[in-house]
Amino acid sequence: MRSQPAPGRRVWRNWAGTATATPARWCRPGTEAEICAAVKDAASAGLTVRALGSGHSFTAAAATSGAALDLSAWTGIIAADTRTGLVTARSGTTLRALNAELGGLGLAMANLGDIDAQTLAGALSTGTHGTGARLGGLATQVEALELVLADGSVVTCSASARPELFAAARVGLGALGVITTVTLRCVPSFTLLADERPMPVEEVLEQFDALAGANDHFEFYWFPYGRQALVKRNNRLPAPDAQATPPPRPLPAWRRFWEFEVMENAAFGALCRVGRAAPRLIPSLNRLSSAALSSRTYTDTSHRVFVTPRRVRFAESEYAVPRESLGHVIAELRRAVPRLADPVMFPVEVRVAAADDIWLSTGYGRESAYVAIHQYAGLPYQAYFDRFESIVAELAGRPHWGKLHSLDAGRLRPLYPRFDDFRRVRAEADPEGRFGNAYLTRVFGPTRDL
Ligand SMILES: Cc1cc2nc3c(=O)[nH]c(=O)nc-3n(C[C@H](O)[C@H](O)[C@H](O)COP(=O)(O)OP(=O)(O)OC[C@H]3O[C@@H](n4cnc5c(N)ncnc54)[C@H](O)[C@@H]3O)c2cc1C
Repeated sequence: MRSQPAPGRRVWRNWAGTATATPARWCRPGTEAEICAAVKDAASAGLTVRALGSGHSFTAAAATSGAALDLSAWTGIIAADTRTGLVTARSGTTLRALNAELGGLGLAMANLGDIDAQTLAGALSTGTHGTGARLGGLATQVEALELVLADGSVVTCSASARPELFAAARVGLGALGVITTVTLRCVPSFTLLADERPMPVEEVLEQFDALAGANDHFEFYWFPYGRQALVKRNNRLPAPDAQATPPPRPLPAWRRFWEFEVMENAAFGALCRVGRAAPRLIPSLNRLSSAALSSRTYTDTSHRVFVTPRRVRFAESEYAVPRESLGHVIAELRRAVPRLADPVMFPVEVRVAAADDIWLSTGYGRESAYVAIHQYAGLPYQAYFDRFESIVAELAGRPHWGKLHSLDAGRLRPLYPRFDDFRRVRAEADPEGRFGNAYLTRVFGPTRDL
């Protein structure tokens, strides 16, 4: 293992630039034994420990002034049963690498979010989700986890082995230990039919339940000054060997490049830069982006439809609200955004998910609509995000653990029926707060109170 005690100068920074930290020590373990040793060594030195993912959380969830465990040398699939779909992978594997390896085995994840840069454990630990009214977040696809606990021991948990640890650790914010391997229940590779088209936002809201119910994966984007939304419907096609199923018709490479790289990244990035230089133009630029929304239909391998490149940097907050509250949130945002002193350059994204039983999942016990708001990097966002929080607070909104929010333990506790159970299991697994950091202290309270 390459361990660099106290270089003192190497700074950790997240993708969005909203969090930085200077770990006392960096370790890059390549085996499970090295992960155990890194945890024990940190304990001997009196340091806290955080496992690092790809730094794609907007919150300081991964930040540490103790020992930072870089798991980029701990990757790949260890075991796969193509008959049952059970696949065990090392926790530092990125979703991009995982999708590629699964594809080679004729398998896929049943649902994904909209990027694939995250590590498997990082994505799970903050409750990363995609969209689909009949599907839960990524953590609902987990069958078992292996963790290194604070004392350096290795434990396995699943629905039958240590079920409470399993209920807590699937969305555990890195608070319970270092996840070393994840066993996923995958599905046979599948093709999605993608249909994207503009639609007046009023119509989308009127038909919201029908659209969410009729499509495997439904979402929409809405520029908060515009009247048009971009509606995305992704539906599974029958397996390729089923009779009369046409072969996939992906976008040609030039069109993929033009639409995803040029229009959605380079051109949109240029518009954002104009908006940042001249904020008074933002509402017009926003309407221009809205008017430029166009339709496309294509079929492709599932992960090539779910995932798109995101090169324009931004800050984001996202809340899960009870699904029936969505119309109220959008109406309030519509009223609030034009009154903000600083205009908003990025669209609002709306997705859906089924209820699940994972203690700290934003979808715990209720069907959710996810509302994500964004602002271009370098533009003021605090007043916008504060207003959004005050809207969703009335609706028992639950913040995405990896996206910007201001809630603390006192406000989170009533939102999660199993919050105290999580804290109890954490206190049993990590009595000294070895895996703590400032973010965990805010959201769970001080370790001594656990
Ligand atoms: C451009 C962009 C698009 C995004 N799209 C979506 C989306 O579609 N849906 C969605 O829900 N979210 C989305 N997110 C949020 C993102 O999925 C989460 O923030 C996720 O946690 C990032 O994973 P990561 O690997 O970067 O983890 P990090 O941000 O590095 O870490 C997240 C947490 O996981 C912990 N952790 C990491 N590895 C381990 C381990 N081995 N054991 C224990 N704990 C560990 C860390 O300590 C930290 O607490 C997006 C973020 C960005 C920047």
